[in-house]
Amino acid sequence: MQYLKTKKRIAILGSTGSIGTQALDVIRENPEVFEAEVLVGNSNASLLIQQALEFRPNAVVIADESKYQEVKSALLAYDIKVFAGEKSVEQIVEMESIDIVLAAIVGYAGLSSTLNAIRHKKNIALANKETLVVAGELVSRLALENGVNLYPVDSEHSAIFQCLAGEWENKIEKIILTASGGPFRGKDRAFLADVKKEQALKHPNWTMGAKITIDSASLMNKGLEVIEAKWLFHLQPSQIEVVVHPQSIVHSLVQFEDGSIKAQFGLPDMKLPIQYALAYPLRLKNTFPRFDFTKYPQLSFESPRPDVFQNLQLAYDALAKAGNMPCILNAANEVVVQAFLQDKIGFLRMSEIISDTLAKAPFIANPDYQDYISSDAEARRLAAALL
Ligand code: NAD
Ligand code: MG
Repeated sequence: MQYLKTKKRIAILGSTGSIGTQALDVIRENPEVFEAEVLVGNSNASLLIQQALEFRPNAVVIADESKYQEVKSALLAYDIKVFAGEKSVEQIVEMESIDIVLAAIVGYAGLSSTLNAIRHKKNIALANKETLVVAGELVSRLALENGVNLYPVDSEHSAIFQCLAGEWENKIEKIILTASGGPFRGKDRAFLADVKKEQALKHPNWTMGAKITIDSASLMNKGLEVIEAKWLFHLQPSQIEVVVHPQSIVHSLVQFEDGSIKAQFGLPDMKLPIQYALAYPLRLKNTFPRFDFTKYPQLSFESPRPDVFQNLQLAYDALAKAGNMPCILNAANEVVVQAFLQDKIGFLRMSEIISDTLAKAPFIANPDYQDYISSDAEARRLAAALL
């Protein structure tokens, strides 16, 4: 019992996704340190059941209520609580036995459960960047009020966090977020006009969920990360720079006031940032693949192309306007990414619709939670009408 008590009990929101399954790899690698306390998935019942049978969590939640019976009956013989529905996803994080919540649901859908976890004083390992894009001010304030730490899982932000270890007293001059450039790096607009989702889904370095893979191809992912970085590290937008680094080995850099730059290197493998967020401040020994310089004789860096990829500038503009604008940017982006994945619009149309939605949606300078909910809904309506 004493031994068990020392394990960190993790609630994985989005356990069936790309980050979620890699988080389970991390737990599998360190069974004496971590324990899966709660698993939450959207609708992939068979994978959620399989995970529950292997990790024997205290509880599982399936958001899609039509899958409740399937999950319930599969786990009947075990001491595992089963819940279903959106409300249960939000409420499960309140469980006393949870030490840390890994927020790995994709998109705006991850906001309410993360906010509730913060209100219940749970530390957060944050993969769901949309949470900070939509409601960065509110999330940061609640975290501060509740004494909650937000540990970044996003590889760039984890890199910055790792560079800042031992530097807490030192001011940041700027940070440099690296971007792979995605599958369309170096292409022009004429090429992008005709690309199909199959091409956009082929990321050169990372295997991720569909939404973030499209965001990476359109550079919206980097735009969202700029906003995420502002809130995580308390920076001005002018202190956040983006550089394209096609090899995805340097995960990001921090420049201090004396001009010195620290970078974090590693293979493109999310297991490391996930593990660092869960084990912070410890670095746990693991068997994950190691970096080899001879396989990467050249690391290169180039400027992003805002004339070709407009989303990055749209994100900086939304951040400059502040208020509910980043929330609107995010909502419009979720609508257009979905539409692109359903072959309803072309690749370049995505930025146009986001830009038009930002221009049309009513501005709220100091939004509260209800304002974020209504801004999200209104932006989705406006963007859908533009499809
Ligand atoms: P994914 O699509 O692979 O997985 C999403 C997970 O969320 C799934 O488990 C799904 O069942 C669950 N989910 C979706 N909607 C839900 C809902 N309404 N209620 C409950 N669960 C729901 O996505 P991913 O690539 O794992 O990304 C997850 C988050 O992490 C995103 O915000 C993404 O931006 C961020 N992130 C991912 C990576 C990566 O390498 N995959 C890297 C950095 C950041
Ligand atoms: Mg990232």
